[in-house]
Amino acid sequence: MARRATKIVATLGPASSDPQLLEQMIRAGVNVVRLNFSHGKAQDHIDRATLVRQAAQRAGREVAIMADLQGPKIRVGKFAEGKVQLAPGEKFVLDAARTAPGDLHGVGLDYKELPRDVKPGDLLLLNDGLIVLTVDRVAGEQVHTTVKLGGELSNNKGINKLGGGLTAPALTAKDMEDIRTAMSFQADYVAVSFPKNATDMEMARQLCNVAGAEARHKPGLIAKIERAEAIPNLESILKASDGIMVARGDLAVEVGNAAVPALQKRMIRLAREHDKFVITATQMMESMITNPVPTRAEVSDVANAVLDGTDAVMLSAETAAGKYPLETIVEMANICSEAEKAEDVRLDADFSGMSFSRIDQSIAIGALFTAHHLGCKAIVALTDSGSTALWMSRHRIHIPIYALTTKLVTQRRMAMYRNVRPLLVDQSAERDTALAEAEAHLKKRGIVTSGDIYVITCGEPMGAPGGTNMLKICRAV
Ligand code: PGA
Ligand code: MN
Repeated sequence: MARRATKIVATLGPASSDPQLLEQMIRAGVNVVRLNFSHGKAQDHIDRATLVRQAAQRAGREVAIMADLQGPKIRVGKFAEGKVQLAPGEKFVLDAARTAPGDLHGVGLDYKELPRDVKPGDLLLLNDGLIVLTVDRVAGEQVHTTVKLGGELSNNKGINKLGGGLTAPALTAKDMEDIRTAMSFQADYVAVSFPKNATDMEMARQLCNVAGAEARHKPGLIAKIERAEAIPNLESILKASDGIMVARGDLAVEVGNAAVPALQKRMIRLAREHDKFVITATQMMESMITNPVPTRAEVSDVANAVLDGTDAVMLSAETAAGKYPLETIVEMANICSEAEKAEDVRLDADFSGMSFSRIDQSIAIGALFTAHHLGCKAIVALTDSGSTALWMSRHRIHIPIYALTTKLVTQRRMAMYRNVRPLLVDQSAERDTALAEAEAHLKKRGIVTSGDIYVITCGEPMGAPGGTNMLKICRAV
């Protein structure tokens, strides 16, 4: 298999829940499995997590599990006939007080606050923007609209307001319950849907830490950037999160399709500058839900996300409900490794003007710089928390970073980081012995052979988090 630095996140669903198939998908390149908490009950998620852990074990790879919370999806209620056909120019009423099933003239709302969040002239986008309603007036609990763009509207479809401005809080009661479920199987990452600001992320982190306290588990927190309001708060959201997701599906509906590509580039750049990871998501290989090959446009989209510098590319319905989940992974892995070859390394430019206050961080950067100029075969980090590997992976370099850790949770966490290959190892407490053991690991795996030069970082005393203070340049014996 070709070398690949970009990671692949695949959503688990009915199309990928066969144990053998999932194992094959992991072998073919899945690094992170996303459990979508919008579907299924607590026990379903617990069973799915077990399925993933077992398939990963059979494949001999560690994958991270991401629990993706549903969030305040703002939805219409149900229809008597399951759906209606709306034509342009027709009147349609969204009614928060309506309990009767919907019809051609109107429908109830799951989200009761809508009448207070909109004003005449606002545009409401339903079903990911396939239907557009113009707000005419608000009368009590009723929002009177005219259909601007018609189509089929079925039960429980999502509502977005163009430009943002819906006040629903990011964490619902269901999300809080789901966090407890996710912590019961120690999900490596928790993704928060529709956060508006850093406070939403801080709140989610507290809930995760409380729910994970018994098992002493602290997951990584991912902010899904999919609301217009999140954009001006990007920096503070990044600071409160471990990584972000460019959630192009909902984001495109709120800010308009055309604004998304530039926002994607900005988010990826900002994330890396803040030493956070970033996932690019939604419709990356959409046509492969039904076709065995991607379109040219999809190939370019994935390749461009790689060239933008994303850590990971994500698959949703392609692997959850599509006809070709395995083929999609194979194609995507291939596109990523091919695109990476065209990535240019500007390490010297990256580093000029950079300043450090932390010893461990300057060791990480020193290792990159040295490896780049000496043309090393490998960059190796003995890491406890994974942060050395994360810092190293924020810069473009064509040399792979091997992150050796004694902690399974750290190994899994690092599955997300671009260009990082996490390895679980035993490690002696004495420094020189640990370095010799590390070299033996690298040789055993064929990563280096006699005479190869590599750089390795570690901390003394060994095994304490945040203690990286040593860089050694080695020639393999
Ligand atoms: P979703 O999030 O698939 O959970 O809606 C991703 C997106 O909106 O792009
Ligand atoms: Mn979304």
